[in-house]
Amino acid sequence: MNDKKAIVGLIPDDVKGDSMHISAEGLQPTPTNFALAEQRLLTDLNGDAVFWAGRAATLLYYAYKLAEQRASHIEAPEIIMPAMMCTTSCNVAHLAKMTPRFADIDPATGLVTLETLQARYTENTVAVVVIHLLGNTAEMARIATWCAEKGLLLIEDPTQAVHGKLPDDKLAGTYGDVTIYSFNRTKIIGAGNGVLVTRTPDITQELTEIINRLLTIPEPDMTLLQQLGLSYRNLHHSLVGLYRVRALPDAQISDAFMSVRSSFEPLFLRPTKTDVDLNTAWESLPTDLARRYELASIYADCLQEGPWELMTGFRESEVCWRFSLLIDKPEKQVAFSEAVRRDGFHVSNLYWAVNQFFRPSDECPHADSFGRRIVNLWVDASVDENYVRACSDSLLK
Ligand SMILES: *Cc1c(COP(=O)(O)O)cnc(C)c1O
Repeated sequence: MNDKKAIVGLIPDDVKGDSMHISAEGLQPTPTNFALAEQRLLTDLNGDAVFWAGRAATLLYYAYKLAEQRASHIEAPEIIMPAMMCTTSCNVAHLAKMTPRFADIDPATGLVTLETLQARYTENTVAVVVIHLLGNTAEMARIATWCAEKGLLLIEDPTQAVHGKLPDDKLAGTYGDVTIYSFNRTKIIGAGNGVLVTRTPDITQELTEIINRLLTIPEPDMTLLQQLGLSYRNLHHSLVGLYRVRALPDAQISDAFMSVRSSFEPLFLRPTKTDVDLNTAWESLPTDLARRYELASIYADCLQEGPWELMTGFRESEVCWRFSLLIDKPEKQVAFSEAVRRDGFHVSNLYWAVNQFFRPSDECPHADSFGRRIVNLWVDASVDENYVRACSDSLLK
């Protein structure tokens, strides 16, 4: 079973050390309570080694640094990423002193395509981030071929489609040179920590060197991080509100954001939490995914007719993170969510085209429209079939 050499406690002595977590002291062998999760990740993704940290953001930081090092002749490295996602990947690019560039999405899926990625390519591109958004999975094969031709590091992120099927029936996460997941609160696996899986021994070795060289993660001051986290969320909500009503030109709102952005940098680098029970989370994954699928199917049945478009990519990937719909009238997005919330249901509409925060000149009209229309509904363990039916009734009102 174990030519993949990654499980602490089970690996032969001669390959010990290929499974690591990032602590305040540097890289350490991972604790045995991660063993099942590691084994599954390595086997499923056919990976070479596993690195753990407190956040996916931390591992993205090192992945970007890896891309920079591999293209050391490029002075101002750029990373192409989706315009529709959370702001973490872009914030981390700035933390790494690299430039995020934004690829527009296919309006039907919310996902980047080979063509939208290529549209942002320049001679300074060093890496491409592909995120399988909300359970929809991107077509990876052509993207991977193009990245290999151009010598770009392909970073795949299936956080929102853990164990999902790609359009070619392969498993999400099997194309990236590195594959990153967040297992933090609210994600499909919410036990804690982020993880990076490398594809080849070369990458494992380069990444180990980079982490050992750059590592500067202090022990986190949780009180400070909580306050910063809350402040960031409030800022994000406020600015989305301004973009939504087009109160000012996008560039002016972006300038305001960019002038305070660096205050939040302490949020992104976190050492591994070692007391996390990831093994249980992996054991229950098939049951959890089946339950999510069933709840999403009930939404899809109940909400067939309405002033919206349903996102049903979960039927092909067989994974649903949030059940999403795109409402027909963007100007109703907020009132609509508020009405559903008043009825007592979880609903969110805070995905926004992130190019507008970080680089409005990378225009992404499809991501803009998507952000103004999307409404997300819950399918996690906090809800059940009755909830889903009642929530659907609330929407249909
Ligand atoms: C939440 C999320 C992240 C960030 O994860 P952290 O562990 O909070 O750093 C990255 N990618 C995707 C797709 C996410 O949903």
